Amino acid sequence: MNPLQLCKKLYANYKSQSWWPANSGFEVCVGAILTQNTAWNNVEKAVANLKKAKMLSCEKLADSKLEKIARLIKPSGYYNQKAKSLKLFCQYVQKNYKGSLQRLFSLPVLALRKELLSLHGIGNETADSIILYAAGKPMFVIDAYTKRLNERLPLNPKAETYARLQAFFQSALPKSPRLYNEFHALVVRHCKEACRKKPLCRKCFLKGECEFGKISLKAFY
Ligand code: SF4
Repeated sequence: MNPLQLCKKLYANYKSQSWWPANSGFEVCVGAILTQNTAWNNVEKAVANLKKAKMLSCEKLADSKLEKIARLIKPSGYYNQKAKSLKLFCQYVQKNYKGSLQRLFSLPVLALRKELLSLHGIGNETADSIILYAAGKPMFVIDAYTKRLNERLPLNPKAETYARLQAFFQSALPKSPRLYNEFHALVVRHCKEACRKKPLCRKCFLKGECEFGKISLKAFY
């Protein structure tokens, strides 16, 4: 199975996921920073706190004290580190792009990625989530779910690093932000519903084509 075939099978089973779950590009950026090492429902609580305190804006977060931001985003975990990352990201946009994400996102995609990666607390997955889901530019997001599914099926067992796995997906797919968006969201859905840490292979519609699934079901019977 190649990535496009996998995408089609996931889409046929789950339909469109309409990602990212946020109301604005700025909210996507905040969510992408807060979701590191935590479940999405914790991010939702933190974002709700920011909204309630009328703090969900680049200007407000850039000017606020770290302690205040940390208190509001506490549900997302690692809140002191994440408060620093959020504040520095917002200060950067305020200072260099007059507070406009549109200006930041007008950079060519590789230059945008380089800038994001130069900021405190922003790694590959966070940068690529911002590029794909907030800026709408073609950058395939690799996360723990993508790695897990790639290892289990497998799609490409040799693609062991973030960069290699991303290059593998991007070379196998049409360069389309819409496709990358939907595919990543579908992978997340599948790994939450079936391909969990402890996978539910017996119920999985991919079990006939999955090496891990075949071995685990053979061992079971
Ligand atoms: S068969 Fe099992 S390991 Fe393979 S994709 Fe499905 S749930 Fe994951």
